[in-house]
Amino acid sequence: MRVLILLAIFALYSTSLSAQQLRIYFIDVDQADATLIISPSGQTLLVDSGKNGHGSRISAVMQAAGVTQIDHFVVTHYHEDHFGGIDDLVNSGVTVVNAYDRSDKLCCLKPAKRAQVTFVDYEAAVGSTAEHLTRGETIPLDPAMTVTVVASGGVVLGEFDPPQHAGDENDMSLGLLITHGNFHFWVGGDVENPTEKKIADMDLVMDIDLYQANHHGAENGSLLGFLEDMSPTVIIISNGSNQTYDHPRQTTLTRMQGLTPAPVIFQTNKYLGGDARGGNVNDQFIADPQTTDADGTITLTVDSGAGTYVLSYGAQSHSFNIKTRTTADVVIESLLPNPTSDADRIAETVTLRNDEATAVPMAGWMLRDTGGRVWALTSLGTIAAGMSATIQRNGMPMSLNNTDPETIELLDQGGRVVDSFSYQGTQPNVAIQTTH
Ligand SMILES: [Zn+2]
Repeated sequence: MRVLILLAIFALYSTSLSAQQLRIYFIDVDQADATLIISPSGQTLLVDSGKNGHGSRISAVMQAAGVTQIDHFVVTHYHEDHFGGIDDLVNSGVTVVNAYDRSDKLCCLKPAKRAQVTFVDYEAAVGSTAEHLTRGETIPLDPAMTVTVVASGGVVLGEFDPPQHAGDENDMSLGLLITHGNFHFWVGGDVENPTEKKIADMDLVMDIDLYQANHHGAENGSLLGFLEDMSPTVIIISNGSNQTYDHPRQTTLTRMQGLTPAPVIFQTNKYLGGDARGGNVNDQFIADPQTTDADGTITLTVDSGAGTYVLSYGAQSHSFNIKTRTTADVVIESLLPNPTSDADRIAETVTLRNDEATAVPMAGWMLRDTGGRVWALTSLGTIAAGMSATIQRNGMPMSLNNTDPETIELLDQGGRVVDSFSYQGTQPNVAIQTTH
């Protein structure tokens, strides 16, 4: 009896413990992507859904994880290996509450593509009501986390919409930066070099913990400058053994392995195609070395309080430390919500001041409005000690309300709110001094 009570207490304790941790499942969907994120409060975000018929693989992982619905579902782009399984999942009775995609179906998808059965199934399951995410928007997954759209349709944070989008479907993928405390994670579907170069040039994604390799470890993904900016501790590649693509490419693995410090690289499956351009990490770091079955799901559990995360599959378990980050004392000095130029979308400004005794780099910092939209502050570069710097909206998504009440928050590179300011109304061309 006493043993039973102790067991019951332990079971309760371990349940509540795991419920407070962030979990990420890199689901074995062969040559495809399906990443399930379960927030500390139990909210779910599914990024991509594997290939046609893979809904059962996702629901099996959901069942094992103890979740029954998808609160947020993101399709990174319109290729079947990223949206194919969602109709199976929905038809099996799983509710998808909010769906998001990269939009522009009419402008950028050929009619023949839109008529394909898999795409019609996607539209019927969630696509027709999916919300279109643009760079700078955020997904409200959990108050203890941030999910920020860094790239969408080939356009990145801080960049104007170009007259024409990139055009390449892979490179138009939604790219997300997901944070929980100091833990930073990038997932970007099949984003390729052109978008990666823009992200690297603007220092939008710096010093992360975990990189889900873009485009299954393809040759034209994981640009060196992008990798160097991120300097990830861990890289996870979601791949199968496809003999057309030969992913992951050996040249890409070599580029990743050459980083300093060298990341630890994992694959869901082993490439068995035999072509010299395909490659593999050591079997010990491949979740499903046989590749023929579906047991290659990699599970990651993040304990932000302890500053560690554990990656596991089969009988393997690997533990890592979350990168440490320090908070700097930067404040919102003033805002100009209502420029008389009457071009608020361009001319609104916010001025920040660095109250530290040392310079503070703004890479990864953001401003966020009441609606959850953001401005990237990376373009401010470094603010010298005691100095101020002004950022202009230039088409970025966050808006400074003119008449409705507004709260503007300043977030550091770790996603923490370091300052905030609320106001009720504005006067034309008058900057609001916050007195911070
Ligand atoms: Zn893909």
